[in-house]
Amino acid sequence: MAVDRACAGELPAGRLTVSERTAAVSRLTRSGLSARQVSARMGVSPRTVVRARRRAEQPGDLSTVEAVARLLVGPAGNGREAWRDEALCREVDAELFFPERGGSVREAKRVCASCPVRAECLDWAITHDQRYGVWGGLTPNERMQLHRHRGRTERAG
Ligand code: SF4
Repeated sequence: MAVDRACAGELPAGRLTVSERTAAVSRLTRSGLSARQVSARMGVSPRTVVRARRRAEQPGDLSTVEAVARLLVGPAGNGREAWRDEALCREVDAELFFPERGGSVREAKRVCASCPVRAECLDWAITHDQRYGVWGGLTPNERMQLHRHRGRTERAG
């Protein structure tokens, strides 16, 4: 299992989903390791460890983790939209798409700009009212504005 291998230091954290990384950090932390020790074991920055710990402590934020995990690695088939298989963000650190408040989204937007399924992703995020993170190259505020604009255009037409 990926989480077991990450905890043993055998699998780079970059190969884990956000939820797997959170689970691995949580497990290592419970075993008594410091953030620095966890970061060394998993090959991630201490900041990533702190953020993963924070996520693990905030059940209310799980929707974010689950949302990105579903986007990045949801099980094949099982009703999952085919466009997800081509999502460019599967190949980069998912945390780029969920910066801290006030953090830069430039790099996430750069990835999205080259993504072949940007339109599908954006439509999905708007339809499913995703309130966190960059989806389809837009921030939550930008998606809300687009959604309102589309609504006005439809009503006018
Ligand atoms: S548009 Fe961005 S968030 Fe959406 S699938 Fe592509 S890379 Fe991922």
